[in-house]
Amino acid sequence: MINVTKAYLPPLEEYIEYLKGIWERVHLTNHGPLVIELEQRLKDYLGVKHLFFVNNGTIALQIAIKALDLKGKVITTPFSYVATTSSLVWENCEPIFVDIEPDYLCLNPDLIEHAITSDTSAILATHVYGNLCDVEVIEEIARRNNLKVIYDAAHAFGVKYKNTSVLNFGDISTLSFHATKIFHTVEGGAIVTNSDELADKISYMRNFGHNGQEAFWGVGINGKNSEFHAAMGLCVLPQFANILRSRKDMYEYYINALQEVNLKLLTIRNNTDYNYAYFPVIFSSEEDLLQVRKTLNEANIFPRRYFYPSLNNLPYLTYQATPIAEELSKKVLCLPFHTEITMEEINQITSLIKKTILC
Ligand SMILES: *Cc1c(COP(=O)(O)O)cnc(C)c1O
Repeated sequence: MINVTKAYLPPLEEYIEYLKGIWERVHLTNHGPLVIELEQRLKDYLGVKHLFFVNNGTIALQIAIKALDLKGKVITTPFSYVATTSSLVWENCEPIFVDIEPDYLCLNPDLIEHAITSDTSAILATHVYGNLCDVEVIEEIARRNNLKVIYDAAHAFGVKYKNTSVLNFGDISTLSFHATKIFHTVEGGAIVTNSDELADKISYMRNFGHNGQEAFWGVGINGKNSEFHAAMGLCVLPQFANILRSRKDMYEYYINALQEVNLKLLTIRNNTDYNYAYFPVIFSSEEDLLQVRKTLNEANIFPRRYFYPSLNNLPYLTYQATPIAEELSKKVLCLPFHTEITMEEINQITSLIKKTILC
């Protein structure tokens, strides 16, 4: 069976070494030494000022929304994982969908200004598949209209734009370290900001609002993560350079193997050091996509429709039209792509695709 993703596991002995330390200290969670070490190493590796390791990427989004005190309408993308929209709804904000760029698949900055009203408080955009948003234009629009910016950077671990981490754009960026993501801690995520003031707030918010054992700064939630999860991150991080290298090779192998096929691939924005997080292909019709998926499934190969349906179709929201996202969400399929995928597997997948849509 070949799945769309497969979690990377480090050598077991390395994880066991960390477990020995946990057993000696009996400090299992609540900002233990491994959590602190992972936060420091991630800050160094990513080149960011403040980073908070939290229990998942969804709580990271929710704390970001709270920390920025967002209210009313938030402009966001319909082409993302459901957590991008559901976090807004959960925090009592109203998602306003703006359509996406057909080549980059991120929020289209040319359409943002038209959607801004007097009760718009922010922009929440996703760096889709690790391909970054038009951060410079979004930044400028936000400044001009006095809006906050959150980037859902769940796919963008390690991505750089003009030689700086993409996490340095916006007021806050959030990461997911879920097992299926390119860097993972089984479950986990992070909140990144360059603002000392926001960092101070976030540090209280992710720990129930505690200010010492018996005093409270304000309302908070349990956003902490454990020593066991931090240990996984500490094992995976030193491998990340190798992970990137092998993903880049396999990504290029895929592109070559699909050369004669009438498929559109993701256009990576200029000046980006990409992380090869996913391998999406864009079919010319939904029929082709469904036919290919059927052929692959019959061969025990399981691609995924990331992201389908387009989030403007969520049943708990009033419908807002975003035709490009709706059309693309019907035509995009993420092919199996992970750190251990082999050339033989890619040959098998691509030849099945060729047989299906060339005949
Ligand atoms: C995975 C993902 C999330 C949610 O992260 P979790 O760690 O699973 O909670 C949010 N946004 C996007 C774009 C994602 O891919």
